Amino acid sequence: MKEIPFTDLKSQQARIRASIEKRISEILDHGVYIMGPEVAELEKSLCKFTGASHCISCASGSDALLMTLMAWGIGPGDAVFVPDFTFFATAEMPALLGATPIFVDIDPRTFLMAPDSLEKAIAKVKTTGILRPKAIIPVDLFGQPANYELILPLAQNHRLLTLEDAAQAFGATRNGQSACNLGCAAAATSFFPAKPLGCYGDGGAIFTNDAELAARLASIRVHGKGADKYDNVRLGINGRLDTIQAAILLAKLEIFEDEIKRRQEAAQLCNQHLASIAEIELPLLLPNSTSVWAQYCILLPASKRDMVAAFLRDRGIPCHIYYPKPLHMLQAFADRAQKINPCPVATQVSERILALPFHPYLSEQTIEKTASCLKEALR
Ligand SMILES: *Cc1c(COP(=O)(O)O)cnc(C)c1O
Repeated sequence: MKEIPFTDLKSQQARIRASIEKRISEILDHGVYIMGPEVAELEKSLCKFTGASHCISCASGSDALLMTLMAWGIGPGDAVFVPDFTFFATAEMPALLGATPIFVDIDPRTFLMAPDSLEKAIAKVKTTGILRPKAIIPVDLFGQPANYELILPLAQNHRLLTLEDAAQAFGATRNGQSACNLGCAAAATSFFPAKPLGCYGDGGAIFTNDAELAARLASIRVHGKGADKYDNVRLGINGRLDTIQAAILLAKLEIFEDEIKRRQEAAQLCNQHLASIAEIELPLLLPNSTSVWAQYCILLPASKRDMVAAFLRDRGIPCHIYYPKPLHMLQAFADRAQKINPCPVATQVSERILALPFHPYLSEQTIEKTASCLKEALR
């Protein structure tokens, strides 16, 4: 039997290979490898897709977070609230600028930032009085938008900036609105190959409806350029998206809506096949949300998770643990974060979670095989 892939970029490439080759060969002809016409075309398409007024493409999802925090002047003495359970970069970027990440606990079933824990964390920072509460970075984890109806009013009450980390959720919706345009001051996404919309290298984008912020970001993207690139008016980075990566994303956008539909159908099938297994908790969506299912993650009893993962791998079913440690337990944050807000749920989830093979081309046969192996492992 064919090897089961965890994520399947080959089937996708087979569908769009001709379009990718045509677009790359056009770039080889025009030769504008940096900020070529494909970059502007992509930004326009992404604005149309999300409904956001401005898109600033950039070199990675991490740079998208970093550049936005730089544009806001985030730095030493600032507290930035991040979920305790997310990819490292969400908290790494504020810390890189000298700000202090404050970890917020998550909801046990959606894995998203818990608004009540956020409220407590803000109150604690204010009471302690050492740091200035400055920004919140809610994460659209595993493809599902965060709970913005509850987070945005808190941000408003406490005058905090909001940056949606939509690295895993481009294409998702909340109340009919697109991820990257859900009411935050800015949103960051990633086009790392394994993300729902991925290129063939590193890439990312920032979205905002604030024209002034968009202009500052465009400057930061090219070393803080002013009227021309040798008239630098601020510090920036080399944060551009390659023309070739923009072309690949344009080709992938042609089939992206169909891939989202396939992801949602595959998730439904996973839910159906796993529902009868008593010891498994299925991933939950908030009402009025759609997910692009960057990952399909289940919860197992902590005492059995590693055994089940080994059992699946033995039978040729790849699986991964996202994330094996909550951020507050990482050595990198030992001296860089303030752990004034306990995050017990994030710790429990990190001991119970398991990501199963998932992509738009997942067959019902693979889902059935995965389900029957899980049943056998838990017998
Ligand atoms: C992938 C990811 C990032 C970083 O994106 P890169 O393109 O890899 O730099 C940031 N936040 C989250 C939640 C991610 O999953």
